[in-house]
Amino acid sequence: PEVVVWREFDRAKLYTADLESGLHHLLRVELAAHKSLAGAELRTLKDFVTVLARLFPGRAPVRKLLETLQEWLASLPLDRIPYNAVLDLVNNKMRISGIFLTNHVTWVGCQGSRPELRGYTCSLWRLFHTLTVEAGARPEALDGTGLEDDPQAVLQTIRRYVRTFFGCKACSEHFEAVAEESMGTVKTTDRAILWLWETHNLVNSRLAGHPSEDPKFPKVPWPTPDLCPACYEEIKGVHSWNEGQVLLFLKQHYSGDNLVDTYAA
Ligand code: FAD
Repeated sequence: PEVVVWREFDRAKLYTADLESGLHHLLRVELAAHKSLAGAELRTLKDFVTVLARLFPGRAPVRKLLETLQEWLASLPLDRIPYNAVLDLVNNKMRISGIFLTNHVTWVGCQGSRPELRGYTCSLWRLFHTLTVEAGARPEALDGTGLEDDPQAVLQTIRRYVRTFFGCKACSEHFEAVAEESMGTVKTTDRAILWLWETHNLVNSRLAGHPSEDPKFPKVPWPTPDLCPACYEEIKGVHSWNEGQVLLFLKQHYSGDNLVDTYAA
């Protein structure tokens, strides 16, 4: 049998390798299911790439690739584009030009104890959380995109991405149902960060004991007390969250400053 090499990692950190492997999968695998893009699909892709280009906190060559893709999509006079044109742009850029995205998949914080567990979906959650946190930290980053001055903009763009492109259909249907119910109540970028955290915990609790649960990474409320003791409060013997502390923790955990390049290609 194939020997799986386990990469040691720190659960309190974010790994560039996870985010870049996830972007590789998103751009070269997930989007590839759509042979041509038009109408609402194309608008969703353009807005999602705009959010990535402005807010992705990773390494410069990847940010440059995302900016190049965003500018190219924005400049297109066409109302329908073949997916292969997107792929060409993503592939033709070379490390030497300072524009580059790995095509290797290296999961670190998103490693699963079996190959079919964790990986892409884990990296996608992490990517989404970093985008909501970056939007709160640097609201001016969205100036001029049409997405500025709207505290829901990043969440709504994530929602449309998930609905349109996320390969797991059961996942996207459930996410859409939650979004329909409560995303509209978000009035600030802080609430946007907390909405995604709460929704993610809702998904965690729904999936506890499900076959997709990795026994090495049980579905429990997150952040666990070891990661953020201050996030926990007890009121009359009942556990509750200290939301102010959770927000501070999320802003620190999902900030660019918490990203480490260990194992990155
Ligand atoms: P994940 O849940 O993927 O989380 C990744 C990392 O985020 C964790 O390792 C932790 O560091 C951090 N994290 C955990 N909880 C939170 C939180 N509340 N807030 C912030 N950060 C957190 N799978 C299904 O089988 N059925 C579904 O219906 C389904 N719906 C999904 C919907 C969406 C939008 C997404 C992105 C994924 C969905 N998945 C679903 C996949 C599932 O949620 C997990 O991604 C997968 O089971 C792998 O879990 P994981 O242990 O890597 O942790």
